[in-house]
Amino acid sequence: MCIFCQIVKGEIPCYKVYEDDDFIAFLDISQATVGHTLIVPKIHVENIFSLPLDLQKKLAIVINLVSNQLKKTLSISNLNILNNNGPLAGQTVSHFHVHLLPRYADDDLQITFASHQISSTEFITLQQKILAKS
Ligand code: AMP
Ligand code: ZN
Repeated sequence: MCIFCQIVKGEIPCYKVYEDDDFIAFLDISQATVGHTLIVPKIHVENIFSLPLDLQKKLAIVINLVSNQLKKTLSISNLNILNNNGPLAGQTVSHFHVHLLPRYADDDLQITFASHQISSTEFITLQQKILAKS
């Protein structure tokens, strides 16, 4: 059984900060920033591509609830919401989860995007490819 399923079942401990019928949220063991929290569905689902639609809808609400909980209790007003799907995207635990990362003026978290220039033709080709029905 995966580590997050074990946490859901209470077989290994966590610092829980939220729970409902479908999700739990607990402090990430790595604390990349103070209050770094994970939102995890109670059922084992590997990634966003296999998360059932009803849970996707509920997840949006839970993200909002827990974000506001952190805002109030930690007095923060800056937050990154991050979700890694697959090893190439940095997913290390194969049970879907969303990271909530409170941000502080003096934190050392770095999330940066390199810029790759492409032509307008390439943009249009890419747009048409993505719009195309499979
Ligand atoms: P990801 O790299 O997106 O798959 O994130 C997995 C996260 O799970 C990492 O930030 C880990 O620090 C965190 N993690 C792994 N094991 C535990 C645990 N037992 N309790 C809390 N967080 C954990
Ligand atoms: Zn699992």
